[in-house]
Amino acid sequence: MRYGEISIIIHDSGYAVPNMASLPHITVIGACATATHGSGIQNGNLATSISAIEFVNAAGELVTMSRQKDGELFNGAVVSLGGLGVVTKITLDLVPSFKMTQVVYRNLPMRALQDHFVEIMSKGYSVSLFTHWENQNINQVWVKSKVEEGVSTVIEPELFGAKLATQKLHPIEDQSPENTTDQLGEVGEWYERLPHFKMGFKPSAGAELQSEYFVAIEYAYEAMMAIESLHEKITPHLFVSEIRTIKADELWLSPQYKQTTVAFHFTWKQDEEVVMQLLPLIEEKLAPFKPRPHWGKLFTMAPEVIQAQYEKMEDFRQLLRQHDPEGKFRNEFMDKYIFSNEEKSA
Ligand SMILES: Cc1cc2nc3c(=O)[nH]c(=O)nc-3n(C[C@H](O)[C@H](O)[C@H](O)COP(=O)(O)OP(=O)(O)OC[C@H]3O[C@@H](n4cnc5c(N)ncnc54)[C@H](O)[C@@H]3O)c2cc1C
Repeated sequence: MRYGEISIIIHDSGYAVPNMASLPHITVIGACATATHGSGIQNGNLATSISAIEFVNAAGELVTMSRQKDGELFNGAVVSLGGLGVVTKITLDLVPSFKMTQVVYRNLPMRALQDHFVEIMSKGYSVSLFTHWENQNINQVWVKSKVEEGVSTVIEPELFGAKLATQKLHPIEDQSPENTTDQLGEVGEWYERLPHFKMGFKPSAGAELQSEYFVAIEYAYEAMMAIESLHEKITPHLFVSEIRTIKADELWLSPQYKQTTVAFHFTWKQDEEVVMQLLPLIEEKLAPFKPRPHWGKLFTMAPEVIQAQYEKMEDFRQLLRQHDPEGKFRNEFMDKYIFSNEEKSA
């Protein structure tokens, strides 16, 4: 079931999920299994909304686990990368349905983020920065705000030098804004504002490649400048980059495990050979900040480097071995990034 479908059902009953990714086209379980996220310093990734999970393990047994009943082990089962078995049911924490507005500011100088990163990223419930890494400029700042009943919404005309857009925009400026959720401060339901792209319309560029790296929020500006130093190499191959924040959590394989993070996302033009040469350069620049890559996007970091970033990696392996001792649900990706160093660390 996709977020775009489930949103309407739960909204009709007066509820909402706390956050969504940039698009509603993805499935709830596919998103949560990979720790997919939206933005917001106070918002966890989408998997943090799961309070119970039911799956069929490799022996064909139906297993149920919940936050309440299974505590720490449950934290290992939510972001599973599909390795535990086939998830057949999940329970999500819901919040009362809410309304939102969305506005976009244009041309924020990156230097404003040096002293005001948290302040700018807290300007709304969910804030995203879009850049091409040209001229140390953030091309667009998307601010999604909750509308509180009885409180009139104030839309500031400027944000640290960036100007309020007067026309609806696509993050990739030559693409049609018809595909994007409504902006210009128009009030709408949460599921029509939290994602950037509308269900039933093309999300992002369509034909593209993606990568994303997470670092602890305290390194936000330094890490951004480290990437910026590669701008001459990156920009020609990029549709756009997006910078977001995600709150810390306790999920073993979440890139936000015990750390509130800033996320640096790259929507690449579809030239895999070039992109695979650029990723090691970015990863090298980010190395001092101990980056964790998005599980569902492209990266070239060595398995042992990634595994070292996850202190619960061996516990996760044990959980997988318990439910799938012969590796029925393993694939090349799991073998390489989860199990490749098991003997050494076991
Ligand atoms: C245009 C675009 C925009 C994106 N925007 C964002 C974004 O804003 N934020 C972000 O974090 N990511 C984003 N992503 C990445 C995306 O969220 C992930 O790739 C996500 O995993 C996609 O979900 P899916 O429904 O396609 O799942 P799939 O790719 O089908 O599955 C993902 C994982 O879930 C597992 N899985 C699926 N179903 C089950 C099941 N029933 N039981 C057990 N395991 C299962 C699969 O084995 C796999 O490991 C974007 C991707 C695209 C293409």
